[in-house]
Amino acid sequence: MLAMNKKDVEQILGLAAREGRHLLLENEAKGLLECWGLPVARTQLARSLDEAVKISNQIGFPVVLKIASPDIIHKSDAKCVKVNLGSEHEVRSAFEEIVANAKAYKQDANILGVVVQEFVPKAREVIVGALQDPSFGPTVMFGMGGIFVEVLKDVSFRLAPLTPEDAREMISEIKGYPILAGVRGEKPADIEALVEILQKVGQLAYEFTEIAEMDLNPIFVFDKGEGAKIVDARIVLK
Ligand code: ADP
Ligand code: MG
Repeated sequence: MLAMNKKDVEQILGLAAREGRHLLLENEAKGLLECWGLPVARTQLARSLDEAVKISNQIGFPVVLKIASPDIIHKSDAKCVKVNLGSEHEVRSAFEEIVANAKAYKQDANILGVVVQEFVPKAREVIVGALQDPSFGPTVMFGMGGIFVEVLKDVSFRLAPLTPEDAREMISEIKGYPILAGVRGEKPADIEALVEILQKVGQLAYEFTEIAEMDLNPIFVFDKGEGAKIVDARIVLK
């Protein structure tokens, strides 16, 4: 298990609170999750086109570019996510396109830059969420990505903190579970990596009740033994 560093989490939450921000910035959210020992795709903010190219070279191609703006919550709805960029040239045109699309989507959007992220190869996508339920307190949500959550509402909930058994139950009781367990000769997904993520998210929501809402959507889950990676995170404070 990766270390869970309470001090660093407090520092990130404290800064946002002092500045009166209810939504953590992209880099803050990723930083917080990393401090808590959660596996996050390598991500860095670029404030200019040249910086985006430099970071892409550091991370290594292919990369993903996304808008970094507190005013654009659903980045792909605004056509502000470009995946699998294989060259410097592709990064340059994606950068310009993303900034233009962001401005077209919301004219006065506060654009902090563009986030450069490692491209994560295709895997099963799941969602993990946390919220403070008004009557029950810190609660964790689990579901499969995309239409499974949005259309079919195929999700499970548990109160935090979670035992490993709670987490395994949450995973196995959704209808989409066979997709994770492996169907038609497909390898099973790394369920144990998910158990660890669910427990850590539960512990985070339990210890930091100022976190009103958290949405890790999606998390890419690799085959058994190969782990998982969070590629998008939204953290809202009270
Ligand atoms: P949003 O939810 O704000 O639209 P995301 O960051 O979740 O933006 O990106 C949208 C989709 O793009 C994700 O659901 C995922 O399928 C894909 N994606 C995002 N980041 C990566 C990445 N680093 N590697 C591969 N695919 C990605
Ligand atoms: Mg997302």
